[in-house]
Amino acid sequence: MQHRADITIIGAGVVGLAVAAQIASRDRQVYVLEKNETFGQEISSRHSGVIHSGIYYPEGTLKAKFCVAGNQALYQLCQRGSIGYKRLGKLIVATSDEEAGELETLLERGNSNGAQGLRILSRQEMKQLEPNIEGISAILSPATGIIDSHALMKYFIAQASCEGAQIAYRTEVVGIKKVADGYQVTVKDGEGEFHFITRVLINCAGLNSDKVAELAGIDITSAGYKLHYCKGEYFSVGSGKNKLVNRLIFPVPPPKVTGVGIHISLDLDGRMRLGPSIHYVDSIDYTVTSEHKQFFYDSVRRFLPFIENNDLEPEMAGIRPKLQGPGEDIKDFVIRDEGDKGLPGFINLVGIESPGLTAAPAIAEYVAGLVGELLPDRG
Ligand SMILES: Cc1cc2nc3c(=O)[nH]c(=O)nc-3n(C[C@H](O)[C@H](O)[C@H](O)COP(=O)(O)OP(=O)(O)OC[C@H]3O[C@@H](n4cnc5c(N)ncnc54)[C@H](O)[C@@H]3O)c2cc1C
Repeated sequence: MQHRADITIIGAGVVGLAVAAQIASRDRQVYVLEKNETFGQEISSRHSGVIHSGIYYPEGTLKAKFCVAGNQALYQLCQRGSIGYKRLGKLIVATSDEEAGELETLLERGNSNGAQGLRILSRQEMKQLEPNIEGISAILSPATGIIDSHALMKYFIAQASCEGAQIAYRTEVVGIKKVADGYQVTVKDGEGEFHFITRVLINCAGLNSDKVAELAGIDITSAGYKLHYCKGEYFSVGSGKNKLVNRLIFPVPPPKVTGVGIHISLDLDGRMRLGPSIHYVDSIDYTVTSEHKQFFYDSVRRFLPFIENNDLEPEMAGIRPKLQGPGEDIKDFVIRDEGDKGLPGFINLVGIESPGLTAAPAIAEYVAGLVGELLPDRG
């Protein structure tokens, strides 16, 4: 007889683990399958670590909704689970009249999304908070912060394990077949290939989420699920310059929002870095090109005049799983049960780029709702 599970989650990044923590319960057999040797080795360990407040995303999108809800949920989780965080706040700085006009649009959008406590600061007010930056006005976002994402994932694992969920590492999903009572999932581990049946299958496979959807027979081009990899490089800022700002400092994002612009982020130890840049790539490669230093310097010198070219050192890179191709408009997260494609009980999460870390708890709650409709008899 084949082994059976109630719910199987593909991917132990922050999203898959948040979902596992939310849906695990003693009367359900829940598995998380992860191809790497441990959790959080891909997108979830190569990001800015910012708890966003929900300013940038078009009103009514899942990105906007889950970012705002996730922001509040994350601060609560951090307190409950002793997870490292700092509610530093952030400034979005305008350096021209045109950008100052853009701040008004951002403020309006952020307020409609429900981002907390936003207000526009005059140059004088901005200088009182951050004497070392340059600009003519700024948005203050007090609810923006930073988080120890590794500790967050450990917290989710502890929550899920406590309710009996099991995580299998070095276990890659290589086949998905619809069967009468769910899905036959074929996996490959150190000992070879085997398969089992699961009633519900949740695709949280990050950079591979389009390929996993394809394994189940979905035409990812016509469904609009094909991912574009978009690399973001970071440069660390040395020479003690981290002492010169008190909060996160962002530029006004470029008109077609592909990212939020090269900004200052700080980690919990106070280290400062600039990033992430935006560069569509064909494959996953995390090297940082030192020749890009001048570009980073040029991108920030107008609002961060204290940074010098020599302060910058290549640090790390991450890859965004974007549904938005080069030159296209912003695309929303895809989070849905595929019943209308003849695949009920197959829940896809595709294109979970930023603010996916912030949104993770709210995404998990939403997915739990979808699971509840599929398995009303449980949990
Ligand atoms: C440069 C950059 C900066 C960012 N900054 C921020 C930020 O400041 N704030 C914010 O809120 N968000 C930010 N994000 C977004 C956030 O990091 C992501 O949305 C989030 O980490 C995505 O998590 P995930 O679990 O979906 O993906 P991942 O962490 O990549 O997890 C997916 C997992 O699935 C596994 N997997 C894939 N295929 C299979 C398979 N076939 N079988 C088994 N396992 C499989 C992978 O090995 C991986 O571990 C940033 C992202 C990037 C790239």
